Amino acid sequence: MRIGILDILSAGAARRWDHKAYKYMVTRQYASIMPQAISVWCRNLGHDVFYATYFGDKDPKSLLPNDLDIVFISTYTQASALAYALAKLYSKEKTLTVIGGPHAKQFPDDCRRFFDVVVGDCDKTLIAEILKDKPCGEFISSGRTFTEIPSVEERMPEIRSSTFIRNKAFPFTLIPVLTSTGCPNSCDFCVDWDKPYTLLSLDQLEADMRYIFQHFPRLMIGIHDPNFAIKFEQVFNMLEKIPNRKRNLYTIETSLSVLRGSRLERLKSLGDFYIVPGIESWTAYSNKVGAGTKTPRQKLDNVIEQFNIIRHYVTGIQANFMFGLDVDVGDEPIELTKEFADRVPFVMPNFNIPVPFGNTPLYERYLREDRILRAMPFTFYYMPYLVYTLKNYSPMDFYEKLIDMVSYISSGSMLLKRLRNAHAPIPSGYNLVKTLSNKQMIGRLRTILNLLNNDKQFRAFHEHETDVLPEFYHYQYEHFLGPYSTLIARDKRKPLLISHKKPEVCSKTKAGDISNK
Ligand code: SF4
Repeated sequence: MRIGILDILSAGAARRWDHKAYKYMVTRQYASIMPQAISVWCRNLGHDVFYATYFGDKDPKSLLPNDLDIVFISTYTQASALAYALAKLYSKEKTLTVIGGPHAKQFPDDCRRFFDVVVGDCDKTLIAEILKDKPCGEFISSGRTFTEIPSVEERMPEIRSSTFIRNKAFPFTLIPVLTSTGCPNSCDFCVDWDKPYTLLSLDQLEADMRYIFQHFPRLMIGIHDPNFAIKFEQVFNMLEKIPNRKRNLYTIETSLSVLRGSRLERLKSLGDFYIVPGIESWTAYSNKVGAGTKTPRQKLDNVIEQFNIIRHYVTGIQANFMFGLDVDVGDEPIELTKEFADRVPFVMPNFNIPVPFGNTPLYERYLREDRILRAMPFTFYYMPYLVYTLKNYSPMDFYEKLIDMVSYISSGSMLLKRLRNAHAPIPSGYNLVKTLSNKQMIGRLRTILNLLNNDKQFRAFHEHETDVLPEFYHYQYEHFLGPYSTLIARDKRKPLLISHKKPEVCSKTKAGDISNK
């Protein structure tokens, strides 16, 4: 069979030259591992396989041939409209359309409006079954935690096609590696909240690292684990055994509580780590930074103390925050975050507005409380858009505070402080790019605030007094999709939001204290 695999990394085409440059060099580095694995499995089963990533550079339909028997499309929620439009085009060509990836897991019912097959948990056996049975109109899931993925060496054709440029590595090239799936924590907004932590084969990891050290000693290694090195001793005991290790740069998402004591020295001696821990909020999700039941101010002091220790062992730090949670009230979150930025200028703060992704406790709660803006298309499920009503702020208040916070951390003086404190060229460059993109974000936040202040219908929509989607969002939707927007009629843009009645969880750990893992 002729099988196409498309990994969608961008919701639409880049139009400005700086966006084009960013997408061409950086967005392509977000290529996911599972579509690469599916490509390898299909190839090993003897099929003609065409793999491509879409990062906003070309017509996405032109990336794969037209006469496919099956197309697998992987997407995240923000880019789902493009995936749906492509599914319509492939269906016209009688190609069996299969969707997988984060959006299919979060909103399977909505995906079934456009795709023949929707895949949840996936592994090699499930892919072989799809190729054999060609199911139609179904949601299928292996029900298993996958434990095996093709090695980096096996995935090299896909890695070259996605993260290299014209078959050549360049300074931003990342080699994607996975050491574990799931997470022992259960943050209620997180799509991994109910996935048990599973360490993948250490033998496979060793083989992957040996291959990378030998063939790509200067490239960055992007570790795709939701929460890296929960089983720190096992992973590092293995990595430290590898002779002739090279000093690669690693990017990891991890919990602060994992990085402590003698582990920091081991991290430093293994390579250059750029770490991305989630702080999220000064009043919630505190167990993952080891701050237990501390007050917001105590948590701030505690986190700052930890960053001051950790900074000497890593090459750079980005701290993730969310604003707009039900625990956020008044000016305290803003003031504490500004103080954080002042006291640890070597850390790059990154903000997100919480998004009620399907199959999470947050989604179930907002749905039950009728707080999700039901007419808002999935295309807007990301910063700077607000897709639910807030508990403690009006939408205008919220955007004013968010603009204040993002402007503060993106000022020229903050940037100078950060550049002075950066140890290496890649974190410095990243700080610069991130600050410039924050400045663009401020412009987008201001546009929404202006509409809230001056357009009654827009404000009524965000105050949940009407379900009529404002023209602004239709215009944005059509702008993202470009010529593909005519494939999704206005009435089909409204998402199907269905309860899956997941049990409520709090942000405690699933399996004990992660610091013991
Ligand atoms: S710590 Fe929380 S946000 Fe991070 S991967 Fe685990 S459950 Fe998700």
